[in-house]
Amino acid sequence: GSFVDLGISPPILKAIEEMGYTAPTEIQSKAIPHILNRQDLIVRAKTGSGKTAVFGVSLLQLTDADAPGPQALILTPTRELAVQVDNDLKQLGRHLKHKTTVVYGKHSMNAEVQAIRKGVTILTGTPGRVYDHIEHGNLDTGNIRFLVLDEADRMLDMGFIGQVESIIRTLPRDRVTLLFSATIPPEIERICARYMKNPMTVEI
Ligand code: AMP
Repeated sequence: GSFVDLGISPPILKAIEEMGYTAPTEIQSKAIPHILNRQDLIVRAKTGSGKTAVFGVSLLQLTDADAPGPQALILTPTRELAVQVDNDLKQLGRHLKHKTTVVYGKHSMNAEVQAIRKGVTILTGTPGRVYDHIEHGNLDTGNIRFLVLDEADRMLDMGFIGQVESIIRTLPRDRVTLLFSATIPPEIERICARYMKNPMTVEI
């Protein structure tokens, strides 16, 4: 298959080509068309599979840079992963007008608030810091239509699931939820059952 066959828009195809990706990975071929159809998806895939571009490409295509945000929220277990995801979004979105930013613990709250106030289409962050911004009234979650839980099993292992659930409860119910995890332990199954709509599972 090719990226063109997946239904990806020209500005994103151009960025993908410039990044040197010549063909989609298996998980990209299997998952991206479902997400573009707004299907809730559980993706069983590890780091190295190309999973970041699965949701990166899809969210950039499904959100509108001219509409109020944030429209998509990506939660990750670590600050390193959050920064990596935001960098990938910036690369994939280089020919779009989307604004992306990243929030995480031990970073200046004030700098993050300034960035959020400038307008954000897609926000990436660690659960504790995202929840802090919601609690302090810095972050309005009312426009979020897409939620990604990246490396959900690691968020569980690190004790973040309570915060993840507190964040989810502030989000509009009318949204697409995508969950990425290498393993699906019972506690993650419970999250899927509680917060996803007829999720389909894709694995490699
Ligand atoms: P990830 O699993 O998202 O951490 O991606 C693993 C690595 O594969 C990253 O360095 C990506 O930049 C790279 N990558 C993702 N998709 C592709 C692709 N279709 N072709 C080549 N490299 C890719």
